[in-house]
Amino acid sequence: RVVAMLNQKGGVGKTTSAVNLAAAFAAHGHRTCLIDLDPQAHMTLHVGLDGDSIECTVYDLLVDPQRDIADAIVKVDERLDAIVAETDLAAAETELADQSGRQDILARKFQAISDQYDVVMIDCPPSLGLLTLNALAMADEVFVPMQAHFLALQGVGKLLETVGLVCQSVNPALEVTGVVLCMHEKQTNLAREVVDDLDTFFNESRDSNVPWRHCRVLQPPIRRNIKLAEAPSFGQTIFQYDPTCRGAEDYTALAEDVIARWHNGTGSL
Ligand code: ADP
Ligand code: MG
Repeated sequence: RVVAMLNQKGGVGKTTSAVNLAAAFAAHGHRTCLIDLDPQAHMTLHVGLDGDSIECTVYDLLVDPQRDIADAIVKVDERLDAIVAETDLAAAETELADQSGRQDILARKFQAISDQYDVVMIDCPPSLGLLTLNALAMADEVFVPMQAHFLALQGVGKLLETVGLVCQSVNPALEVTGVVLCMHEKQTNLAREVVDDLDTFFNESRDSNVPWRHCRVLQPPIRRNIKLAEAPSFGQTIFQYDPTCRGAEDYTALAEDVIARWHNGTGSL
């Protein structure tokens, strides 16, 4: 399964969730690959790598047709690989502006290694440009990390519309399958109301043919946990940094929820 972590807002938990969900899948026995499509390269740093000193990155794969995706794979941990970003990645967007087929460069290259992995997690930038399109063109599903804030639902609505358009143009099979609640404060009324609104909204979509008809709020929400904010500066996943903290507990349980759903029907591992 190829999953893109998508939200046009920054600071909602995309990178944290991509890295720690991927690490949880790997710990669970699944061969997992992380791909960093954000020029900020936070995912790359979070797993302890430096894109500027790595020979072949996502940037090279996008702009150089000769570059082989197998050369871009870096081992992070047992069963966990990464394809990293460097700061140059921001330039790819303009460098490729006139090239036809620029939206699915990565999808085409990925086919060569797709059978080496059970799960691929793609960290997207907080924008909806060419880099995000490359993620959506190769993804089977989209997870939307978000915080249960006022107006959260409006942001999600806009995002879903965009995914709907992408489906029509580059990837008709793409589905939005899960919302990941990050930095969650369960006990607040606001959080409870937003979650209820999300549940209602998705339940009302079940019988339509929109790409989010199978979407639900994934369980459990990820609680606010300082360890999750500390781990990136050590270049470690939460399981390397503090495997017994609440953050590690939450991402383990979330990964189990996702895996159970994959085994039960929509999609298979
Ligand atoms: P995005 O990739 O969407 O911009 P990040 O994953 O980088 O968001 O998260 C934004 C900030 O919040 C980071 O500093 C991250 O360490 C922190 N953070 C994310 N999830 C949690 C959490 N559950 N508890 C505490 N801090 C978190
Ligand atoms: Mg990020």
